[in-house]
Amino acid sequence: MADDMVEQLRKFSLTPEEEDDIVIDPSLRVRAVEACSSSLVGKLLTKRGFGRAALKDKMRKVWGSLAGLRILDVGENLFHFRFANDMDMQRVLNGGPWCFDNLLLLLKRWEVGMKADSVEFKDIEFWIQLWGLPFECITQEIGKAIGERIGTVLEVHKIAESNEWGRYIRIRVSIPLNRPLRRGGNVVLGEGDKCWVDYKYERLLVFCHCCGMLDHETRDCAEKNKGVGGGCSKEFAYGAWMNASQSYRRGYRWKEGDLASQKRGYNRGEG
Ligand SMILES: [Zn+2]
Repeated sequence: MADDMVEQLRKFSLTPEEEDDIVIDPSLRVRAVEACSSSLVGKLLTKRGFGRAALKDKMRKVWGSLAGLRILDVGENLFHFRFANDMDMQRVLNGGPWCFDNLLLLLKRWEVGMKADSVEFKDIEFWIQLWGLPFECITQEIGKAIGERIGTVLEVHKIAESNEWGRYIRIRVSIPLNRPLRRGGNVVLGEGDKCWVDYKYERLLVFCHCCGMLDHETRDCAEKNKGVGGGCSKEFAYGAWMNASQSYRRGYRWKEGDLASQKRGYNRGEG
């Protein structure tokens, strides 16, 4: 029951029938929880209208028509994605961020007790590439240390498992949504050597090139539209160059497989 309704009812006395608690057998709750164990809750980051059926169709397609996937409409801009197994769910969660109609679809693990009016999306997960470190510093430990200053580190790409991958460190980080994306950071290496490290975001599809926030596009930016004397100049401080996929296009040479999978990943998120 919605909180305002509960508040409203406090003013009145309940009838004996209404006062009777409706007790649900714990086994029913257990079964309900089990049915949701491999699931995600998603929120489309927008204030405008969108096609719910179109979103469901699109996500099914881009996730590869996963058998057993159910997508439930559970609230304003809110969806519950129930997967057949943990592997499918983890693959989707780890492969994001995802977009629909140029809007970000935020995803998080479902938790017991979540309700439409209480679920919050404060963070977003990205694979971030750290570019610009000296050769000897391309290590998992250093990647983790830098990542911990960016957000919550969820995973560091295992360098030993990938062939000849020595240009950058790749980390999965959960970052706050209410802050501009960071373009990079000064890293002080032990004895005082300092170097600038570029952060390149994989699957960075939609964000504001004026203020660096993820929750709106450049054309909708309040900063940009402040007019003469305020706002952003024509030269935006942020840009598509922060997208890791753009680095490929600027002529870096990659293993064929990496390039193909990256392109596939990039294309998957568009639309
Ligand atoms: Zn903006």
